[in-house]
Amino acid sequence: MTLEEIRNKYRINKDLHTHTRYSRTGPYLHATGTIMENVEAAVKCGLDEVAITDHGPKEIYGLDPKKLPDMRRDIAEAQKKYPDIKIHLGVEANLMDSPNGLDISPEDIKDYDFINAGYHYGVPKCGMIANWITFKLPSPRGWKEKMKKKNTEIALRALYNNKIKILTHPGDKAYFDIEELARACEETGTLIEINARHKRPNVEDLKIMAKYAVNFIISSDAHKPSQVGRYVRSIGLALAAGIEIGRIVNVVERQQI
Ligand SMILES: [Zn+2]
Ligand SMILES: [Zn+2]
Repeated sequence: MTLEEIRNKYRINKDLHTHTRYSRTGPYLHATGTIMENVEAAVKCGLDEVAITDHGPKEIYGLDPKKLPDMRRDIAEAQKKYPDIKIHLGVEANLMDSPNGLDISPEDIKDYDFINAGYHYGVPKCGMIANWITFKLPSPRGWKEKMKKKNTEIALRALYNNKIKILTHPGDKAYFDIEELARACEETGTLIEINARHKRPNVEDLKIMAKYAVNFIISSDAHKPSQVGRYVRSIGLALAAGIEIGRIVNVVERQQI
């Protein structure tokens, strides 16, 4: 199926992973849209639901928890203007070596409608330098297996100790045991993301994960409003991996006229 055929046949009805300018370091904006702009873009794409999921607070460009009331206020304003779309305040928490495997404590999770979680550099106790070297360069013997074991242990700790809605871009930026991640997502009912922005998961990763009783979700991971609702390439990956469309929870067939 070509990308054009995919676009004509399918659409997504929700995008539960988008970033706004609340992901920032001082004046440096990691993502450029306002909440209102992301919502407007989602309405234009015909989505029923959109989530604002800025980076977790320990990320160098993560959201500032003190700004949560401002985020809630912006969402209420957008919700009032666009009552037909459901807007969620989520967060893309960071996997890190903390007691619950995340950069958000169990007590603070209730501040969000739901949490997604994924691996990123720029977070304390995430093995950033070792992971970067191992993942991007020819690394010394044994490093890959060592980092894979450590990263996977942290991810499983996060998955089993928190209610995570979506495991974002599994396999990207560092080595993980994809089988172990899929098994944990099966056991915890966590959705596996087919990310429209990152290289992983790729077709090989998806083939491995599809062997488990898991469901998938496509997210744009938009860092600017024009990217909200992107999905076509992700469906292409899923089809190439042999994943039935019915297992991707936010894909619907377009009405044929
Ligand atoms: Zn991410
Ligand atoms: Zn993201």
